[in-house]
Amino acid sequence: MKHFKIAIVGAGPSGYFTAQAFQKAQNEDISFSIDMIERLPTPWGLVRSGVAPDHPKIKTVSKVFEKIAKEPNFRLFANVELGKDVSLKDLRDQYDAVVLATGASKGRKLGIAGEDLTNSLSTADFVPWYNSHPDYLDLEVDLTSDTAVIIGAGNVAMDVARILAIDPTELDPTDIADHALFKLKQSQIRTVIICGRRGPEHAAFTAPELRDLPKLENTDVYIDSKQIQDAKSRMASLEEIEKDLRNNLEAMRLIAEHPKKGVERKLYIKFLAAPIEFKGGNKIEEVVFAQNKVENGKVIASGEKFSIKCGLVISAIGYDSVEYPGITIENGRINNIAGHVEHNLYTTGWAKRGPTGVIGTNKSDSTDVVELIIKNLTIPKISESITSLLKLEHKVVTQIDWEKINVEELISGEIRGKPRAKISSWNKLLEISSTRNQNIN
Ligand code: NAP
Repeated sequence: MKHFKIAIVGAGPSGYFTAQAFQKAQNEDISFSIDMIERLPTPWGLVRSGVAPDHPKIKTVSKVFEKIAKEPNFRLFANVELGKDVSLKDLRDQYDAVVLATGASKGRKLGIAGEDLTNSLSTADFVPWYNSHPDYLDLEVDLTSDTAVIIGAGNVAMDVARILAIDPTELDPTDIADHALFKLKQSQIRTVIICGRRGPEHAAFTAPELRDLPKLENTDVYIDSKQIQDAKSRMASLEEIEKDLRNNLEAMRLIAEHPKKGVERKLYIKFLAAPIEFKGGNKIEEVVFAQNKVENGKVIASGEKFSIKCGLVISAIGYDSVEYPGITIENGRINNIAGHVEHNLYTTGWAKRGPTGVIGTNKSDSTDVVELIIKNLTIPKISESITSLLKLEHKVVTQIDWEKINVEELISGEIRGKPRAKISSWNKLLEISSTRNQNIN
């Protein structure tokens, strides 16, 4: 029996699905020890710090992660940063294969004038802020204006728009960060405008998310029916319309025609609006847009401009992977072929394919990469593992340590009628993880 040592860097969905694929691939001829290395003191990646707090069902995948972590061949090394606490070279020397499941956490830039004005934020900052990511505890977010503009027509734009547009009391029974909920309860924002640069037929929203919008209890959602009708007319000339697109357009039509409640909180979705400049003094005050049009299937500028006055802009235009020593990033992704970077180095998830797909997409992606790794494995290395690389005094958050944090958050959440009360302070997380062992099963 051959036994290989695998290091997975990144404890998000793609990392866990990689571990699961290795666990499932074990048989009488081959087995694996899996060490998962994570920079934060907490695992679960975007399931913890990305998924919107009002979408708890999506987070139930963490039960699968817990099951993977309970397997005897799995170890968690959280609070360990690649490139700082351990080098990529050393990891590659110690392990038979290293899989980078490090995601894409850098918000893309629009590259237009005024983008760096105060209160022009990226979802890469705003989303982890409301999801208790310890790095974003002190993010300055000003919600004192009446209007927010969200740039981009994808599901992250929709998440962010919803969080800003709904009555914050609707977030009471969620695991949203306390500091964010406090701010949202004082928010003056009553109008949120999502702006997509292309037409409804090009939007990156998915239909289930769109269908949820008319169900919002305290917010009216507006889409111009003419924009949907025009998109449908453009589509009519095509021989075949993909099912997903048909569902999207139908969901948008339903939003446009849904009777409005006449409430103060409004969420608009506008299409064919490309931002060209952000204006303001100390702080963002206005977004200038080029009005686009679709001609012969192409999106082009109509030559007209318009602007929207606002006090907050959030760019939701996608993410790039973060660079670190030993890794080349190309087009926002780790340079790779089908997940293979070089020699015993691999990548999976958003770091491999870019920021696309839902959480489940990572399962098939990681399974494919693991198949490739197993095909390439030859003779197991005789080596130690990460324990030989870390300084003795380094505080590793192990699976048992994380379970202490988990239990603490679940219990304090239950007392407050929430699924969990997340801890945002890095020090507090480490403190709890270091407490003496309690009754953890
Ligand atoms: P996305 O789906 O790729 O959407 C990005 C949006 O930004 C697109 O509308 C894109 O327009 C626009 N954009 C890009 N560059 C732009 C620019 N320079 N100016 C104006 N607009 C620009 O990305 P995402 O919303 O970050 O989502 C990432 C992935 O996570 C997606 O696969 C998404 O479905 C998934 N996700 C799923 C859920 C869920 O299932 N509930 C929730 C959140 C995220 P163009 O198309 O014109 O480029």
